[in-house]
Amino acid sequence: MSPSRGSIRLALFGHPVAHSPSPGVHQAFGRQFGLDIDYRLIDAPPEDFIARLGAFRAAGGTGCNITLPLKGMAFCHAAEARPRAALARAANTLWWSGDSRCCADNTDGEGLVRDLEQNLDITLTGLRVCLLGAGGAAAGVLGALLERRPGEVIIANRTRARAEDLAARHAGLGPVIAMGLADLAEAGAFDLVIDATATGHAGEPPPIAPAVLAGAAACYSLNYGTAALALRRLCGDLGVVFHDGLGMLVEQAACSFRIWTGRMPETAPVLAELRS
Ligand code: NAP
Repeated sequence: MSPSRGSIRLALFGHPVAHSPSPGVHQAFGRQFGLDIDYRLIDAPPEDFIARLGAFRAAGGTGCNITLPLKGMAFCHAAEARPRAALARAANTLWWSGDSRCCADNTDGEGLVRDLEQNLDITLTGLRVCLLGAGGAAAGVLGALLERRPGEVIIANRTRARAEDLAARHAGLGPVIAMGLADLAEAGAFDLVIDATATGHAGEPPPIAPAVLAGAAACYSLNYGTAALALRRLCGDLGVVFHDGLGMLVEQAACSFRIWTGRMPETAPVLAELRS
């Protein structure tokens, strides 16, 4: 199907991508400015990603979002990267400059912080934060979290070495400590636990001692929909306030939309519509 005349052609590349709400989110943003948005979901296994990205650009693509498992590849492919994408070594947003160079950014961290602070009224400054996971999403959000001057961020990951690598890369930005998931039981109480693991997609909460969650003031999962259910239930059982990552999804999308169009959309009505 060719894009309609005058539309801004955008896409999400990932593997899988079929159930992403991103097309509806970006079309709703476009309507706020009278822009016709043609946003496609392009399923691309890693071996096909670069070829499909080239075909998308050749067909008039303006920019795209990138999701699992392609964020690292997208960053490596780009000729130019904004500092926060370089810090994360992962890109969730690509576009092409006037001379057709591929540019990369990572809006995940800005999206998370906007959701926490503006939508959920959680001020990060001074908080003791536990970040579960050290994959692409954790790498994308850690810099933005540290910029808000939390008291301390503990990154805990199943593969401890990945958490250590991430902490070392961000050590200049603020107090950050790495550990394995099992060590969390001895790490004391947290104000906020952020789940950036992928266990929710298997219907499981992250494998941590329940006391780690029970002692927290709130828990935020980057997952949403069915992938957030297991942790939502566990937090409910423990009496811990739970927030899913739907707000982050909308906020990071808005930051990408701003990069492509120069316009920052209102996110509240789009998030409310998604939740309804
Ligand atoms: P990723 O790069 O594949 O990393 C997955 C992470 O989950 C790693 O830290 C991995 O630990 C951990 N993990 C996986 N299975 C585990 C298990 N059984 N037990 C313990 N830890 C396990 O994925 P990602 O890109 O970071 O994404 C993480 C999650 O965030 C996904 O569910 C994704 O959908 C979500 N996300 C949401 C948004 C949003 O806008 N709301 C944006 C980005 C991502 P190891 O290092 O030990 O393998």
